[in-house]
Amino acid sequence: MKIAIMGAGLSGLACAITLEKQGLFSTVFERRNQVGDRFINGEIMLAILSRPIRDDLAYLSEKHGIFLKPTGNIKTLHLHSQHNHALITGALGFNNLRGRHDHSFEKQLEGQLTKTEIIFNSDKSYEELLQEYTHVIMATGDAAYAAKVQNYHQDLTVSLKGCIVKGKFDRYTTAAWLDHHIAPKGYGYFIPFSDTEGNLVIAYPDYPENMEQDIEALWQRFYQRICFEFQQDLKIVDGFQIRNYIIGSCKSPRIGNTFFVGNCFGSIMPFLGFGQLTSLLTGIYAAYDLCGLGNYEKLTIPLKRSYEQSIILRKTMEQLSNSQYDFFVKSLNGSFGHRLFHTKRISPLKVASYLLRPFVSEKSGGIETD
Ligand SMILES: Cc1cc2nc3c(=O)[nH]c(=O)nc-3n(C[C@H](O)[C@H](O)[C@H](O)COP(=O)(O)OP(=O)(O)OC[C@H]3O[C@@H](n4cnc5c(N)ncnc54)[C@H](O)[C@@H]3O)c2cc1C
Repeated sequence: MKIAIMGAGLSGLACAITLEKQGLFSTVFERRNQVGDRFINGEIMLAILSRPIRDDLAYLSEKHGIFLKPTGNIKTLHLHSQHNHALITGALGFNNLRGRHDHSFEKQLEGQLTKTEIIFNSDKSYEELLQEYTHVIMATGDAAYAAKVQNYHQDLTVSLKGCIVKGKFDRYTTAAWLDHHIAPKGYGYFIPFSDTEGNLVIAYPDYPENMEQDIEALWQRFYQRICFEFQQDLKIVDGFQIRNYIIGSCKSPRIGNTFFVGNCFGSIMPFLGFGQLTSLLTGIYAAYDLCGLGNYEKLTIPLKRSYEQSIILRKTMEQLSNSQYDFFVKSLNGSFGHRLFHTKRISPLKVASYLLRPFVSEKSGGIETD
């Protein structure tokens, strides 16, 4: 067996590490000149979204031998709407770094490889890899190839604008905003990297009604609101902007001897853009299949289902007005919110999507089931 992994991101590296543990060696082809060679940003893993898993990082290390260190665990989450605010506390998940930072998840994964070769600055096409290798793991972090081979269903695209800001923060506290004035049909968030640095981001879908929005003006509104709420003049030190970030899922997780992992599989949850855990798991599961330890299509069924549940939540969220967001956020502030975030037995994502399914109108695009 000769295995090529296209892309040295979360899914590709998780796959290579898992193969190594089973005594199989792949070659990783990375387009850029180092692992994580992109802007630095903060991302989070929220425990409520991965139930029944209670602790993503403990699960990855104990069950799959992948060891990742966060920048902090999230002890406090502030959820804001236009006029209301909910405070959720407890063991809620983790903050972590991505990109060029020495402690980014990508760099940590690279450090866990011992013998696998990573070929940087690769311009090998998928077709060339197919010729040279018996198996190809498609881990490029985008839908380009999956779409090219007509194995991808796109649900939406998103615009994002983010900045690294300096100020005084609590690294264990993160915050999110649901307010159409800041991010129409989307959200804004703040993720600290440390007690002095963090990431402020807005993300909203590229629907026709949003195309006239000036992303710069939205971001300025968000930034000014955060400075006011944090009672600080936050200093912007770096920034990034992404247009047309595709959210969708592959139709088939495997075609012949090509495995679609990470965003090529459809890791990103349409609801709030979370995709790290699923990306890692798809990489691990593809490796299990290659090692004869499981069947990739079967192992990924729960991940596919979770994507479908998440699209229902997204479509529902998009139908809410700012005053409905106010009501929703207010109801989370207190024992209901606490119970929801700390429930151990049920998956809130699963239950909410089941209950909301009948209310997702055809006007909002309905639900794709293919
Ligand atoms: C701004 C932003 C914020 C996010 N926040 C969160 C969050 O808070 N929580 C969360 O869970 N998820 C979040 N996500 C989603 C999460 O980052 C992704 O789901 C995850 O990184 C996808 O992993 P991957 O392995 O598919 O791709 P990546 O980790 O992006 O890796 C893809 C790799 O493939 C390489 N590559 C691309 N094309 C080629 C090619 N042709 N040949 C060779 N190599 C190639 C790239 O250079 C890259 O190294 C966020 C995403 C973005 C953009």
